[in-house]
Amino acid sequence: MSTELSAQAIVDNLAAVHQQIEQSAKRAGRDPAEITLVAVSKTKPMAAIEAAYAAGQRDFGENRLEELWEKVEAAQRLGLEEIRWHMIGTIQSRKTNLVIGPFALIHSVDRLKIAQRLSRDATAAECVLSVLLEVNVSGEESKHGFTAESVRACAAELFALPALQIKGLMTMAPFVADAEETRPVFQALRQLRDALHAQQPSARLPHLSMGMTNDFPIAIEEGATLVRVGSAIFGSRTP
Ligand SMILES: *Cc1c(COP(=O)(O)O)cnc(C)c1O
Repeated sequence: MSTELSAQAIVDNLAAVHQQIEQSAKRAGRDPAEITLVAVSKTKPMAAIEAAYAAGQRDFGENRLEELWEKVEAAQRLGLEEIRWHMIGTIQSRKTNLVIGPFALIHSVDRLKIAQRLSRDATAAECVLSVLLEVNVSGEESKHGFTAESVRACAAELFALPALQIKGLMTMAPFVADAEETRPVFQALRQLRDALHAQQPSARLPHLSMGMTNDFPIAIEEGATLVRVGSAIFGSRTP
């Protein structure tokens, strides 16, 4: 059973997540303003998005392009004009044209072929896409993404793509009972970002998109600039 939370519950959850973000930032000696909370609204109704928006939330993440486009249009009809939409899900190669749209950031460029197609489609549409490279740091077979080796091996090609502005890296940590176990994954993503920067000195890679409901406080301690949090805000999802 999916639980659709009341608007008040969503507002309370958002406040609690913000408090945890501040506490984690403080523990790490970071400024909480460096960290953007992306509220992951996948599978949730527009009413949930409206409730969060009314409480000041502006960054929302979706993982399916069809649902993302439906929500972009619904949000326009509802006058939620300040939303910044984040695409966080796997992009199928035949659907790269659907990524050309009013999106703030594409977190999930997970292989060279997708990057090339996105750059081609964006060039045709005369736009530039802001993207992150998704890296499968943990090496779990079920997860998408470049391996740390492949992203370094393709770096020259990736950074030469004319219509992609690569702004950093994204990863998903394995789901574990003790979130502390995810720390090495987040450390590895940060180290990979630093290595890529050394390899491509002209690249600007300020962003690390890492941390979900289960592990975002640890990701923040390890340098996350974007955390993608769904169920802690909107309640659990039916699979
Ligand atoms: C669903 C999803 C999230 C949010 O997951 P929660 O555990 O509900 O916070 C974050 N990132 C990606 C890529 C997702 O697909």
